[in-house]
Amino acid sequence: MSEQNPSELQQVLSNIQKFFMQEVDLFGNVMYPSESGKGKKTDETAAAGYPQEPWASAAALDELNARICECQKCSLGVTRTKFVFGVGNPHAEIVLIGEAPGADEDAQGEPFVGRAGQLLNKILEAIHLKREEVFICNILKCRPPNNRDPQPEEVEQCEPYLWKQLELIKPKIILCLGRISAQTLLKTNDSLTKLREKVHDYRGIPLMVTFHPAALLRNPGWKRPTWEDVQKFRKKYDELMQK
Ligand code: SF4
Repeated sequence: MSEQNPSELQQVLSNIQKFFMQEVDLFGNVMYPSESGKGKKTDETAAAGYPQEPWASAAALDELNARICECQKCSLGVTRTKFVFGVGNPHAEIVLIGEAPGADEDAQGEPFVGRAGQLLNKILEAIHLKREEVFICNILKCRPPNNRDPQPEEVEQCEPYLWKQLELIKPKIILCLGRISAQTLLKTNDSLTKLREKVHDYRGIPLMVTFHPAALLRNPGWKRPTWEDVQKFRKKYDELMQK
């Protein structure tokens, strides 16, 4: 066996150290060996359209949360206070999706808290649902500064986490909260009025749209159409549960 000189050895060690520093930057301090081998997508993750990353093989929501909660894939990772994964029943039939955490959510690490969250709880009660029965999350897991709209590059980085959440929860239906959330998920510029008119499809899951609770706080006149939306949503959900 040929002997390596000290400078070659130092170079090898430095490359190894760089590799592990990159892994820590991307995935935190925990290593997640891929069963299929690094650099090779599994058929399952390829079919689901996930990036080639270790979190894609998470088998449960808790595991997914642990793997992504230190994410720094977009600039919001630097400015957030808390990562907001989502809360609720991990086997919920219904998933509610907003656009991104606001100030209260960023501070508490939970989506839809504060006044908007209390209103959302009332909306759910109006259709005989409890917050604990559903799963609630956002497209972006970190707060955009000053509550600005999500940027396309942030959505591109973060939306695959939502896909994985939905794959693990397997809901029967999604209720999208607000214009931005609906336009972002459905990749459209259609108005909220138009989007509220029909049942859409998001990755094979029926999706309906209504107002964001924060918008209702600003404009109470939208409470009536929201009530009508959620009645339709409940009817659709009941139909799906009978199949
Ligand atoms: S918003 Fe999403 S992609 Fe950006 S840092 Fe947070 S978790 Fe990562």
